Amino acid sequence: MKRLKIAIDGTAGSGKTTTAMRLAEKLGYKPVETGAIFRAITYYVLEQRIGLEDKEKLKKLLEKIKITQIYEKGRIRTFLNDIDVTEKLKDRIVEQNVSKISEIKEVRSKILEIEKELAGDGGVVMEGRDIGTVVLPDADVKIFLDAKREIRAKRRIKDFKRKRIGIKEDELIKEIEKRDRMDSKRDVAPLKIAEDAIYIDTTELTVEEQVERVYRIILKKMENEA
Ligand code: C5P
Repeated sequence: MKRLKIAIDGTAGSGKTTTAMRLAEKLGYKPVETGAIFRAITYYVLEQRIGLEDKEKLKKLLEKIKITQIYEKGRIRTFLNDIDVTEKLKDRIVEQNVSKISEIKEVRSKILEIEKELAGDGGVVMEGRDIGTVVLPDADVKIFLDAKREIRAKRRIKDFKRKRIGIKEDELIKEIEKRDRMDSKRDVAPLKIAEDAIYIDTTELTVEEQVERVYRIILKKMENEA
């Protein structure tokens, strides 16, 4: 049977990663979390104290950077130059800078290369902001996930609590809002719904319901392909 390319895009905190991982598990596919790749580059740029306006330095850094991702024991792990940086990627300093770094053309074209390689020739559930529009315009199934901002912030707070990071809900709502705005307004590969994507509002859905809904869409596609 043909191994499909599944694209899952959506707003910040809409549950893209969890959905991509659960679907990949059900289908025996590989999940790819592209936000983590943008975050890994952001982490590196901050760590190396490279100014964003210093395009030459940035280009040099991008030339030698190596980012890989594996799915292991129910988790996606991201490696930067062979070092596991997964735990660093949700740091607030990374979160507060990632949208700025994602606007840079050079960063996006480097990541596009990595994404194409990770997608291979199918059997992949890739999540992000521009997967259905730019990275995999030929994806077999395109989903766009969204939910009310307050709900997305609440879900994120739960994640933070698990890691015991204190953060106020209204601060997080503002940050999510800012990130969505920057991601939607940028010139290159902005966050937008692909014409052939299916929009799902997950405000009222549990994770299980959300996964099940997308899974049924994929099964239908598979039946039609068979
Ligand atoms: O999905 P996540 O919240 O981890 O993404 C972090 C940031 O990376 C987004 O806010 C966006 O700026 C950027 N991103 C992007 N294109 C993607 C995935 C993420 O610009 N395909």
